[in-house]
Amino acid sequence: MEKEIERKRVAIIGAGLVGSLSSVYFAHRGWDVLLFEKRPDIRKKENFAKLEKRSINLALSQRGISALSRTGLGLDKLILSKVIPMKGRMIHDLGGNQVSQAYGLPHQHINSVDRGMLNEELVNTAASLPNVTVIFEQELKQCDLDSGSLTFSSPEGQEHHYKVDLVFGADGVHSRVRGEIMKKTRMDYSQSFIDHGYCELTIPPKVLETGETDYEIDPNHLHIWPRHSYMMIALPNLDKSFTCTLFAPLDIFDSIKTEAQLMELFEKDLADAIPLIGREALVKEYFTNPKGSLMTIKCKPYHFKGRAVIVGDAAHCMVPFYGQGMNAGFEDVEKFFDILDKSGQGSGASPTDLSLMESCLDEYSTTRHPDVVAICDLALHNYVEMRSSVVSFSYLARKRLEAILHRIAPNCVIPLYTMVSFSTMRYSEVWQRWQRQSNLILNSVIVASSVLGLGSVLAAYFFLKPNTRPPPGQ
Ligand code: FAD
Repeated sequence: MEKEIERKRVAIIGAGLVGSLSSVYFAHRGWDVLLFEKRPDIRKKENFAKLEKRSINLALSQRGISALSRTGLGLDKLILSKVIPMKGRMIHDLGGNQVSQAYGLPHQHINSVDRGMLNEELVNTAASLPNVTVIFEQELKQCDLDSGSLTFSSPEGQEHHYKVDLVFGADGVHSRVRGEIMKKTRMDYSQSFIDHGYCELTIPPKVLETGETDYEIDPNHLHIWPRHSYMMIALPNLDKSFTCTLFAPLDIFDSIKTEAQLMELFEKDLADAIPLIGREALVKEYFTNPKGSLMTIKCKPYHFKGRAVIVGDAAHCMVPFYGQGMNAGFEDVEKFFDILDKSGQGSGASPTDLSLMESCLDEYSTTRHPDVVAICDLALHNYVEMRSSVVSFSYLARKRLEAILHRIAPNCVIPLYTMVSFSTMRYSEVWQRWQRQSNLILNSVIVASSVLGLGSVLAAYFFLKPNTRPPPGQ
């Protein structure tokens, strides 16, 4: 009789977006996969109310799509059949006028995707694979990373024990696995909050005379109400509603204590949004919906020996202004398996070679870190762009020039947004290219305008002055 191959066993902690995608990657390579989630089954509607409500929809872009497609199971096509393309920003000014700003070339767009649907599809796909066991309502409580022994507890307080070859921490921003790795390695760690928070609101569908429904505003744009010190954005949903997110300094949230104060702010700055959301609903949602905080977490290394590794928000948390948190988390999984596959350790049937595994995890930590730091920093930078720069003359002039140069020399000048959202170029390279091409554009404009006189040179300098911050990570 043939001896059954002993498969390597991985415990993935967290069946959120990144954990559930990871389980598909591991399963595809023949690992015995245990996917643990502390929450109740997200696929059951009766559990919906118990789940944390955070960013109902998300922007899915090229990096996320690439990671979905690499599963080889058509996940990219499945998800893309349930998204709404957003080809640009729609700027709402104080007077209620709307101006469209394309994100890139006519065929380029990001995608509004429902978080719950995406998570559900990923968990469903994982659960359909024979070598995946999805275990809900078990929270990781303890882990001995040296031996791979894990202890979980259920809501009734029962303890469950497991032993695995690899612990894969996809347990989000408050990661317990990160805490365990931190105890055992010289992990550098930083966490910094910004002074701004967020609150979600809803623009419901418009009801037509026929009784049918439609979108109140154009669904193929990400709508922005940029108000310099703060902003509101809105992303479309398939049910023809929009989810709005009001991002503002915490002082503003703290100062709004009454309906009158809320309406004063909206009437002054966001007047066109009042009839869209509806006065009553606005007041109700604003005072009942949670106010979220925003932070950046950076750490390194992401692993402990050949035994444990963290990905997604567990490894890096960024402010949401580039719409890249999930996309970067999905890309983590793709990059991780590129390294594992290259070494032969990717296969669940190959025996564990702990020292080879350790060098793979080490390579992952080393190569991924500069990219993660770059996107965390770019995400902070983009908040200023979204809430303020998008309406400034210098920004618009620069954008226009970049777009023209991109058409003339597409490999030489690539707009920053295009590199981040429509390519899979390493984030660290995106940052470096951006610095280089900003200087190139500036120098060319100075040379060209010098013929026209000093005034033009100075104007060009102030309009096109590149970001002179040091590279990320320094
Ligand atoms: P999570 O989604 O947090 O999942 C972690 C999972 O682990 C959870 O299900 C949790 O219950 C489980 N867990 C935790 N601890 C344990 C434990 N001890 N035992 C068992 N299970 C555990 N990203 C984008 O790409 N595009 C966007 O447009 C975008 N918009 C955003 C808007 C806002 C307002 C915010 C806050 C974030 C946004 N993001 C966006 C970021 C994105 O939401 C995160 O990057 C993404 O959810 C990270 O996925 P994750 O699986 O790593 O973590």
